[in-house]
Amino acid sequence: MAESGRSLAALFPTRIHGLTRLNELAEVIGDYATSRNYADGWTTTRLSPYIRRRMILEEEVLAFARTVGGLRRVEKFAQEVVWRTYWKGWLEARPSVWKAYLTQLRTLDETLPGSDQDRLVCAISGKTDLPYFNAWCDELTSTGYLHNHVRMWFASVWIFTLKLPWAMGARFFLDHLLDGDPASNTISWRWVAGLQTPGKHYLARADNIAKYTNGRWVPKPGELDESAHSLRDDGFARIAAVKPTLGPDAGQVQPRAVILHDEDCGPLPDAWSAIPTVRYVVNERPQHRPCNLVEEWIIGACADADTRVGNVTLARSAEQVTDWCRENRVVEVWAFRPLTGFVAEAFAALAAELATTGIKLRYADRGHDITFFPMATKGFFPFWESASVTLRRCWI
Ligand SMILES: Cc1cc2nc3c(=O)[nH]c(=O)nc-3n(C[C@H](O)[C@H](O)[C@H](O)COP(=O)(O)OP(=O)(O)OC[C@H]3O[C@@H](n4cnc5c(N)ncnc54)[C@H](O)[C@@H]3O)c2cc1C
Repeated sequence: MAESGRSLAALFPTRIHGLTRLNELAEVIGDYATSRNYADGWTTTRLSPYIRRRMILEEEVLAFARTVGGLRRVEKFAQEVVWRTYWKGWLEARPSVWKAYLTQLRTLDETLPGSDQDRLVCAISGKTDLPYFNAWCDELTSTGYLHNHVRMWFASVWIFTLKLPWAMGARFFLDHLLDGDPASNTISWRWVAGLQTPGKHYLARADNIAKYTNGRWVPKPGELDESAHSLRDDGFARIAAVKPTLGPDAGQVQPRAVILHDEDCGPLPDAWSAIPTVRYVVNERPQHRPCNLVEEWIIGACADADTRVGNVTLARSAEQVTDWCRENRVVEVWAFRPLTGFVAEAFAALAAELATTGIKLRYADRGHDITFFPMATKGFFPFWESASVTLRRCWI
């Protein structure tokens, strides 16, 4: 197990820090296929907080993986990197799944019975009868990170042993994970529950936890519900995909003015620099309350992006963005397309507001999304069949 002593406390929300870490991860990526399932030590990259906000780009991560080995050697790692892309593309084609999750939370907040509320409070404060679950809860709230296998166990215990609503668990994650992402998080919870691939759910087993924590946690016999049925199919896994609008490629656009947002804190194409730039700070996150660690991560990531750009005006409402556009005599303004989630909702309202004053809001996409999203029409394996052909070409 490589570099198990490294501390997460070293996380710092800047692009340069993300890139520096990436360059130190050759050993982790090289060993990934055999060690990644062990939730004990440094077995995965922990780059997700950077990738999530595009502080480092998927293509940069994949380019580094190419220096580690051939696609066959690092295939498992490359597959996980584009798994995130797959979930983003999948949700982009089915935004109603995100809306339904928010609606479900609203309903649950109003109707959750008292006894469930007591269990919920115990779960989110790490005071259940399950010491490993409590430890994971503490790790999540104190570091903003959990290993993928722990996320799977946590979600499974939440749904099938503690019998709590999956959407409330998904919210708990989204409020506390530094990499909290509407697509990866919502769909992963749905997958554990058996809603994403109806009938197939993920049950945490005591022997699996004992093995992959190297014996650190050994649940007692009968403590976990290892024979629960999956949740009742809600039909969303089969809804027809709408073809998402994509493009133009941001690198091909020459904007006169730009609006930045926290979904994309990545490097700007050359033509996007040295022009009037405003940052729309979106704080509305209905039914959610990000914890301080997450708030600070987002603020830090945005501040880092703004420092790289130079002169960025901050706007805290759609009206302030509109006023800025008027003051700068802007008739057309460009932004990276905010993908399904809170920022996309705020930008839809902003577009309407700008339109009333004759200002056009236009979106551009990252080349990576333009290439891979159209492949995310069905399940992951058909997606991977197409995606791996494209990746193989890059590896040559
Ligand atoms: C219940 C549940 C909730 C999750 N919520 C989120 C979330 O909110 N945000 C998030 O980014 N990921 C989420 N994941 C996916 C995965 O757990 C994390 O991406 C991964 O643990 C991040 O750690 P890492 O950077 O060390 O990943 P590595 O294993 O080093 O992988 C490299 C990169 O690939 C991507 N990746 C890896 N595994 C997955 C996966 N299973 N699904 C999608 N992308 C993946 C991530 O961008 C990650 O940084 C969730 C998984 C589960 C089971």
